[in-house]
Formats: sequence, structure tokens, C-alpha cells
Amino acid sequence: MDLGFTDKVAVVTGGSSGIGLATARQLLGEGARVAICARGAERLAAVSADLAAEFGADRVLARAASVLDPREMTAFAAEIMAAWGRADALVTNAGQGRVSTFAETDDTAWREELELKIFSQVHPVRAFQAALKASGQGAIVAVNSLLAYQPEPHMVCTSAARASVQNLLKSLSNELAPAVRVNSILVGVIHSGQWERRFEAREDKAQSREDWFASQPAAQKAALKRFGEPGEAAAAIAFLASPAASYITGARLEVSGGVSRFV
Ligand code: NDP
Repeated sequence: MDLGFTDKVAVVTGGSSGIGLATARQLLGEGARVAICARGAERLAAVSADLAAEFGADRVLARAASVLDPREMTAFAAEIMAAWGRADALVTNAGQGRVSTFAETDDTAWREELELKIFSQVHPVRAFQAALKASGQGAIVAVNSLLAYQPEPHMVCTSAARASVQNLLKSLSNELAPAVRVNSILVGVIHSGQWERRFEAREDKAQSREDWFASQPAAQKAALKRFGEPGEAAAAIAFLASPAASYITGARLEVSGGVSRFV
């Protein structure tokens, strides 16, 4: 199926690793020009050099920027408009989860988590909304978590923050309509940078990578009994960002291997 990305411009926040990187690669493969941002300049440069070698330097733009800094998001949008003159899809993906119970979460942690989850949507959407409206086919796809609907006791704060993001996205899908569609994917467990970091921090250093990943309760809860791969999330994101999903807005697509227990 042609997803209609030829000559289109897609923006992926947090594009230097995991789901964001897989999404950038998928959209480039579909014919789009793709701009990515992340905070860590070194990894971003390495990744964008790889993408440029694979897909062409004129189709890849990378800028070190944090989604939590509105000026950096404005500058990112300005650079894309100066280079390519348009932005058709925005994937708000940057972020990470916080593992803590209510008892373990102090006020500073609550503020940090709520700030990350809310402003990782607010700042990029503000920076790109004019371009998306002008696109004629503008689409936002947020990478959210199944925790929004099914909280986990070891991720209390992230679960609450994710629920509020889902609420925000619904409002955006109304306020930005009909020019821009707004949808989300709800991720379960996807093998990415943040899971690699948890593996590196494991208590039993003798435990192999294979054993550690297989033993994670999060994967065992999935009907498919495994972690997802970043490319499996990227395929869903690309669909929702594309004109193939032209009558879908305000919706969520679960990419969790069947972790949800609700109907
Ligand atoms: P990774 O750690 O592999 O990738 C995260 C990306 O986001 C990196 O490029 C990172 O680069 C970037 N990033 C983080 N903070 C910022 C920031 N403030 N500004 C700009 N870029 C930032 O993780 P995933 O691929 O797993 O995560 C992608 C999204 O999916 C996240 O929002 C995560 O919470 C969500 N998710 C993932 C799940 C999973 O199982 N993998 C489960 C549920 C949700 P840098 O650090 O250099 O800034």
C-alpha cells in the first residue's frame, strides 16, 4: 500500500533511538523527508549520518533540541521550514517512563514527570501547528502508553501523566480539526533504548540479555508473550500519520501485543 509520503515532510521528536528512530527510518522508506530531534547531539549526529547514507543527505535533517524548551522547538520548526518549506506529519515521541510507586515518588519527581509528558506534546504541537494546518494533510501521532488506561502499581506517576496526555490529545483532535488529524498509539513493551538501560542496570549481572528480557513480567503479560520491536510501533505510526488514515482522528491504536485487559 502506498502511504502517500512522497514529497511530504515528517518530523519525529526523539528520533535518535528506539521507536523514534524506527519511525524515521520507516517514513524515509515510504518516501518522506524526515527531520528528527533529540537532546544528545553525538548520538543524533551518528544516527542522522547513517540515515543520510541510506536515504540521501537531502532527505534527512537533525537538530539537537529538547522538547521541553519551547525556543528550541520554535528554532527546529524554523529550520525545517527554511530547508523544506513544509511539515505534513508530526510524531510526538520523545520521552521516557519513570519506575516508581506512589510511596517512592516525591513532589519533584511528580513535577518532572508531568512536565515531560505534557510539554513533550505542547511545545512541538505549538511549534508545528501552523505548518501542519497549511499542509492540507496535516497529522499528529503521539506515542503514548497503555498505562494511560491500565495503570501499573510500579509506574504510578507515569500512568497518571499518560492518562492526562490522552485527554489533551482528544482536545487537540477537536481544536485542530478539520485541518489536522490527531491520533495516538498506546505502547505496551517495545524493545528500545530505555529497556536496554534497565537491562544494563539489572541486579544480577550474570543474567544474560535473552534471559533477562524473557523474564520481564511486562512481556509475560502480553498475549503474544514477547516484547515488540520498534519497527512494529513505527508501522502503526506511519499508517496513522498518512493519508491512508484520512478519516481517523481522536483515536488510539494499541500496539502492545495484547496487554490490555479491558474490552
Ligand atoms: P528510547 O530511550 O529508545 O528513545 C527515546 C528518544 O527520545 C531518544 O531519542 C532520546 O534522545 C529522546 N528524548 C528523550 N527526552 C527528550 C527530550 N526532552 N527532548 C528531545 N528528545 C528527547 O525510548 P523509546 O523508543 O522506548 O521511547 C519512545 C517513546 O515511547 C517515549 O515517549 C516512551 O516513554 C514511550 N513508551 C515506550 C515504551 C517501551 O516499552 N519502549 C512503553 C511505553 C511508552 P536523548 O536522550 O538524546 O534526548
